[in-house]
Amino acid sequence: MSFKSLGLSEALLKAISKKGYTTPSPIQQKAIPPVLEGVDVLASAQTGTGKTAGFTLPLLHILSENPKEKFRPIRALILTPTRELAAQVYANVKEYSEFLNIRSAVIFGGVNQKPQAATIKQGVDVLVATPGRLLDLESQGLLSLKRIEIFVLDEADRMLDMGFLRDIERVIKMMPSKRQNLMFSATFSKDIKKLAHGILNHPVQVEVTPENSTVDAITQKVYRVAKGLKTGLIIKLISDGNWKQVLVFTRTKHGANKLCEKMIKADITAAAIHGNKSQGARTKALAGFKSGRIRVLVATDIAARGLDIPLLPHVINFELPNISEDYVHRIGRTGRAGASGEAISLVSADETTYLRDIQKLIEMKIPVEIVEGFEPDPNASTAPEKKQQRGGGNRSRNNSNSGTSNKNRNSNSRRPKRSNDRRN
Ligand code: AMP
Repeated sequence: MSFKSLGLSEALLKAISKKGYTTPSPIQQKAIPPVLEGVDVLASAQTGTGKTAGFTLPLLHILSENPKEKFRPIRALILTPTRELAAQVYANVKEYSEFLNIRSAVIFGGVNQKPQAATIKQGVDVLVATPGRLLDLESQGLLSLKRIEIFVLDEADRMLDMGFLRDIERVIKMMPSKRQNLMFSATFSKDIKKLAHGILNHPVQVEVTPENSTVDAITQKVYRVAKGLKTGLIIKLISDGNWKQVLVFTRTKHGANKLCEKMIKADITAAAIHGNKSQGARTKALAGFKSGRIRVLVATDIAARGLDIPLLPHVINFELPNISEDYVHRIGRTGRAGASGEAISLVSADETTYLRDIQKLIEMKIPVEIVEGFEPDPNASTAPEKKQQRGGGNRSRNNSNSGTSNKNRNSNSRRPKRSNDRRN
């Protein structure tokens, strides 16, 4: 199948070919036709599958087919849970619309609203936004959603995790009821189905086949190690392997900073990326990492969500996440778009329960290794460390990227365990 056979316009085909894509990914093959037909779509797809192009390309096709007005109302809204994802989706929209007469903008919290408001005032067709800033600007009368034709809810599961349900409901009320809705989610929990039921109108449901499962394409390994020896081991692995681009996950922001400092002391260029970092610092760290100037990016779960780092060869879990599904999200950062990757987890005794839960979720036993000199402590307790907030507090109000209500956070943070997690 080719992009041309999907019925996309010449201007879009030109942009696609400029990006270097030759074949539509499975989610693109399945999602683009119904979106072009104008029906609502509920798609199960994770970052890394090409889902962004899956909704952006047909959305741009539809918008550019209809005549434009002199004053350009916002006709399409793409709502994303995090700043990083918003920035990434916006970058995609810009690239794909290069040869179209379409204007786009991105808005999110943590930065001055003035330039964002000024851009919107000039008229934009496509707006990419995080919920908090969107509601802020709307309440100030700086934007209107009354002319929305297409609404995209991206990473809906993460939206609920982050407590955005009320905000989404408020956004829905601001849009005309006659519109096309597209909803993307990596998981289909009861809460997601309920949300979909409230937003979508007789949706076409698309799913990519299990063969593309991120988990299958990645080599996974566990190093059993004493807690106090983890830093030494991670430095050894990166140095001995001469790894040039490594994404490391820690459970807390403090842990990310601490590890980063130790890496730098060991002469490994590193930067931390988490919710307490300013937008500028995050962008700089990511740019440095992508360009190869920074070898190690230490991230918390929430900050890593939505990072677009193609062909990332190594992901290391310095600590296992206490929510099993975050493990799948984390290792999904490697082996992207068909490339192979390695996901390594440093596991101390107190993480034994987490490891067991993760293996249950991914339905496989991860091979275990022990490095001489970095053995696990045989006397350490296997009881988990004192109960932590999901994401080590990263989903607190200040870090939710749009400064919004967190009333629903607790009720929505419990995703059911699925034995057949199909994150493609
Ligand atoms: P996404 O899931 O939208 O975050 O996309 C994951 C990565 O795949 C991004 O780096 C995209 O640029 C890339 N990508 C998207 N569609 C294709 C395609 N059809 N062929 C090759 N790469 C693609």
